[in-house]
Amino acid sequence: MTTRASRAVVIGAGFGGLAAAVRLRARGYDVTLLEALDQPGGRARVFAQDGFTFDAGPTVITAPYLFDELFALVGRDARDYFELVPVDPFYRILFHDGGSFDFVGDEERLLAQIAAMSPRDVDGYCRLAAKAKAIFDVGYTKLADRPFHRASRMAAVLPSMMQLESFRSVYALVSRYIRDERLRQVFTFEPLLVGGNPFRTTSIYLLIHWLERQWGVYYARGGTGAIVRALVTLLEELDVDVRMNEPVAEIVVEGGRAVGVVTSRGQRIAADIVVANGDPSNIYTDLVDAKHRSRHTDRAIARVKQSMSLFVGYFGTSRQYTDLAHHTVVMGPRYKGLLDDIFRRRVLADDFSLYLHAPTRSDPSMAPAGHDAFYVLAPVPNNRSGVDWSARGDEYFDRILAELERRVIPGARASMVTSLRMTPHDFEHTLRSRDGAAFGPEPLLTQSAWFRYHNRSPDVDRLYFVGAGTHPGAGVPGVLNSAKVLDRVVPPAAARVAARSGYVDHDLSERRVAR
Ligand SMILES: Cc1cc2nc3c(=O)[nH]c(=O)nc-3n(C[C@H](O)[C@H](O)[C@H](O)COP(=O)(O)OP(=O)(O)OC[C@H]3O[C@@H](n4cnc5c(N)ncnc54)[C@H](O)[C@@H]3O)c2cc1C
Repeated sequence: MTTRASRAVVIGAGFGGLAAAVRLRARGYDVTLLEALDQPGGRARVFAQDGFTFDAGPTVITAPYLFDELFALVGRDARDYFELVPVDPFYRILFHDGGSFDFVGDEERLLAQIAAMSPRDVDGYCRLAAKAKAIFDVGYTKLADRPFHRASRMAAVLPSMMQLESFRSVYALVSRYIRDERLRQVFTFEPLLVGGNPFRTTSIYLLIHWLERQWGVYYARGGTGAIVRALVTLLEELDVDVRMNEPVAEIVVEGGRAVGVVTSRGQRIAADIVVANGDPSNIYTDLVDAKHRSRHTDRAIARVKQSMSLFVGYFGTSRQYTDLAHHTVVMGPRYKGLLDDIFRRRVLADDFSLYLHAPTRSDPSMAPAGHDAFYVLAPVPNNRSGVDWSARGDEYFDRILAELERRVIPGARASMVTSLRMTPHDFEHTLRSRDGAAFGPEPLLTQSAWFRYHNRSPDVDRLYFVGAGTHPGAGVPGVLNSAKVLDRVVPPAAARVAARSGYVDHDLSERRVAR
């Protein structure tokens, strides 16, 4: 007698989709992973050009235990698949007035720098760090990997969120402890890493500060792409059917329940559950017929405030700049004014604040010998701005390079041997993100936890979401945690009885190892 195993289809091979596929396989599902692009990773895909390797997106790897957990779930050791190396400093922040600050994990070195810059803020920082830890203990430890599809759950956590002052913005809360404006920038820019404006994002995102202090900041040798490749290798070892160049055109719903998908080539794949890793706004409107969506109507989705977008320029130089840190934040002349231009006014400003990634400082293999690989990232308004990037992109990139030459990479343009770029247009059309947002819905209090797209669809039974657009939100730890939530909301897989089918099932549980 044969019982077929439960089948899952995962749409999208971003970190959320890859992690979901591992977790579902570990629970006994037969998994098919369908990715529209020609390579896995989504925002974490890789551009290889002229001997240089450019990670397209995430470069700051935090909470590495989340990767360890995934591999351990199926009896493997992540260290056999990729190597993480600590980065020190976590970030070097260059202020517009010429000063700099190294954000490091070591408290003594951190306090010494604060004392040198603003002695009266040392005590304030210690109290701020304690506050960030208290927020982390609730906002991360208790909420990040738990489902939020019931309003009662939101009601249960609201009192502690109020007690932790989640109604204040990150900037407002930090300003209660820190008086020096440069230090306020140092301790408030982190929400930008998940698409949040520090002036209006809930202070719960201060947890990122403690998350970095708690576990450190890492770089994957060979780049973040090495982690993506490791996860795909793992999935292949687990007999997951991983397919590239396979956009999904429709989620098939019958009797209110997801029963499979249709690919853009017209192939129908039956499934007991469907997990979507793409942007939920577009997954709903483009893949789920409106008649199945009483809650997520087109009008309701149009009201979601999407996060900012990014302009990212990737380039290689024939010179090396050995004094640079691995991660540098180059602050512009304006902080709040620039963020208002990006988030509120949605205009492309003449000035910018930049993040510069210099992976060759940790790993020479990312560029040909004697060369340096870089990417520079500027937060910009999403496509509601109406900016025509095909017309403005070249000029914008050139202005950024001029600023980098002036402040950090002298002679960058003269020594540039290769370059490419990604604009909000690519986020919208290549990565299929609503309004070209780089991080899904903006992380506001009114778009977090229960208010964010739920991991379990309220409209369609057996349809689930992982990734930046759903709870808990953007960033690699966020999307890995969204996959963890699945373990609490997805039904157990039907057991496979292989006796007469000749199919040898993998007993994944036997491979579990103690770490
Ligand atoms: C430039 C940049 C830098 C960043 N830096 C950091 C960082 O340093 N640290 C950090 O933690 N986070 C960082 N982030 C955020 C982090 O990268 C993202 O939040 C995270 O990688 C998103 O993962 P995801 O699971 O949501 O999937 P995504 O990466 O968004 O992938 C979704 C996938 O779904 C596919 N897809 C969509 N629709 C379909 C369909 N219909 N059919 C098939 N496939 C489909 C897409 O092609 C895509 O591959 C950065 C983001 C960007 C853009």
